[in-house]
Order: sequence, then C-alpha cells, then structure tokens
Amino acid sequence: MKFLKQKLHPKESLLPKKFNNKILRKGLSDYGINIGIDNRSRKIACLACPEKFCLDFSENELKYNHIFLNVCPTKAISFSGNTSVIDYDNCMGCGLCAIRCPYGAIKFNDDYLPEINDLNYDYKKYSYSDFKKETKYLVVRNIIHDQDRKKLVKNLLHNLRDQKQNTIYPLVGSMLTSIGLATRITRVGDTNERTDSVIIDERNSIPIEIKSPTETEHIDIKSVRQALDNKIIMLSRNTHNTQFKTTSLSIGYRYPASRSDVDELIENIYEAYSINIGMIDFETLYVMLLNNSFKNVKITVNDIQELRGRL
Ligand code: SF4
Ligand code: SF4
Repeated sequence: MKFLKQKLHPKESLLPKKFNNKILRKGLSDYGINIGIDNRSRKIACLACPEKFCLDFSENELKYNHIFLNVCPTKAISFSGNTSVIDYDNCMGCGLCAIRCPYGAIKFNDDYLPEINDLNYDYKKYSYSDFKKETKYLVVRNIIHDQDRKKLVKNLLHNLRDQKQNTIYPLVGSMLTSIGLATRITRVGDTNERTDSVIIDERNSIPIEIKSPTETEHIDIKSVRQALDNKIIMLSRNTHNTQFKTTSLSIGYRYPASRSDVDELIENIYEAYSINIGMIDFETLYVMLLNNSFKNVKITVNDIQELRGRL
C-alpha cells in the first residue's frame, strides 16, 4: 500500500532553502520563529490561522458527516485571545491537534503531550496574512524524521491505552476524516444503527466496528463477527450505498497476534459468503495520518474498498 510506505529521507529538509534564506536575512524574531541548527529546533508560534485546523474540519472534510465532529475527541483544545489553548484536564494525548496544525505551532513535550509553542509572537505587528505573504514557501512542520515518527507513534499509542468507547469512537472518526475518508460516527449507545461508524461513499460505503483498548487490546473474533453483522445489516436495510464485495472494517488498538484464528475466520467468511472483512489497528491509522499530513499522501475509499485481513 503506497500510503503506508511513504518516508521522509532523514536528511530531507521540510523548509525550502529559499524560505530559509529569506527568513534568516530578515531576522527570525520578527516572525515569531526560531530556527536552530537542525530541524528539531524550528519553532513557529500559533498564527491564529483562519482555518483553525487544530480545532475544526473543513467543509470538504465534513461533506458526508451528519453529526458535527470536532477535531479533538475530548474538546480539550480551544481558541482564546490570539492563540489555541489546551486544557490538560481533558486532553487524552492523541496528538491530532499537533499533527493537523500545518505550521508546526504545536509540539510534543517530553511526555508526548501537545504543547503550543510559546514564542511571544507579536500579533499586533504581524497578522496571519502578513506572515503568509512573507513566508509563501512555508511548509514547516514540527515532527521530522522517520525515526522520531516511530517513537512518536509508539508514545501516542501509549497515551491511548486507558481510553474507552466515548473517546475512542470520536477519535477514530477524527483520524479517518483527517486522512481523507469521509466518516460519520454513531453516538455511543445509539442502538438504531448497528455499526459504530461508516465511511460514506456514493458507491462503496464501509461499515466500521470500533474496539477501544479497554474493551479488548487486540482485534478479536467477536470484532470480526460484529463487522460481518454490520455488513449484512447495511446490505439488508439498505442504509447506505454499498456493494456486496465492499469491505466491512474492524478497527482496534492492536492487530491480533500474528496469524491467529481471527485471520482464519476472515478467510472462512470470504470463502463462504464472498464478504471482505478488513482490519486496521491504531498504529496503521497513525502512519496513514502522518503520511497524509507530512507527505500529502491522500487516501480514498478505492484504496481500501476490497480490503480483506490486515491493512
Ligand atoms: S495551532 Fe496551528 S492550526 Fe491551530 S490556530 Fe494556531 S496556527 Fe492554526
Ligand atoms: S492531543 Fe488530542 S485530546 Fe489533546 S488537545 Fe490535541 S486533539 Fe485534543
């Protein structure tokens, strides 16, 4: 899968030379930017960007979502004065806000919690549009090398280990929506819909069974059975446009242990009914999210519509 394999070359600069020189000539502090000797020390203040990527999805991202979805699954980030602000009592440390900010204004601290760069940016002197005008080559990000990204994913997964359905459902919705898959989540406890979530598509809508890490650490047999239920009910009730062969997803904290009964059941279901059950774990979701955010690798329903087994 090409969207899982995109990597930054360790020496690849995320800051084009031209921009670098220009900023260095002009004097970094004018722009609230510190550029150090390596990529890691580049910092940019919250620019109060009009889109508020850390808080809100764009209209395009939400085009099929009938239930309003905040980026933050726990609504722990808000905007106050001239900057975004994080409420650490509610932050679960999923990292979405930091990954979505295109300016690298949110970094991860030593505990892998997001932190808004505090750089005394002079909002009165330089507005967001001044900044954009002066820095039209800006593609700076605060998460850099592949090696760091592996460590980052490991730590973000660790942050999620105690989370329950009420935070994991919206998190999955936010992650998939950020990746580019228009996703609608169902409210926890809403029994009218069998499925926890749906990736909506004009032809190939995909039902999703979500398992939180506190329900089960690994995607298990029950998750696969429920994914099968979801598909049968979607087809028989005709709730969304889908096809028989379109996959039904089970998303969970970790994949099953290697080559387990779960993989076998998925193959058995396919042999008996030609129904595809796909699995995605959270590590893979983060890899897709990072590739989408930092390498602009887009994912569409076509990429996963006949997924069977692990992504
Ligand atoms: S943190 Fe980033 S995305 Fe959020 S308002 Fe500031 S600049 Fe925009
Ligand atoms: S890390 Fe996740 S939970 Fe914390 S503020 Fe950002 S989006 Fe919200």
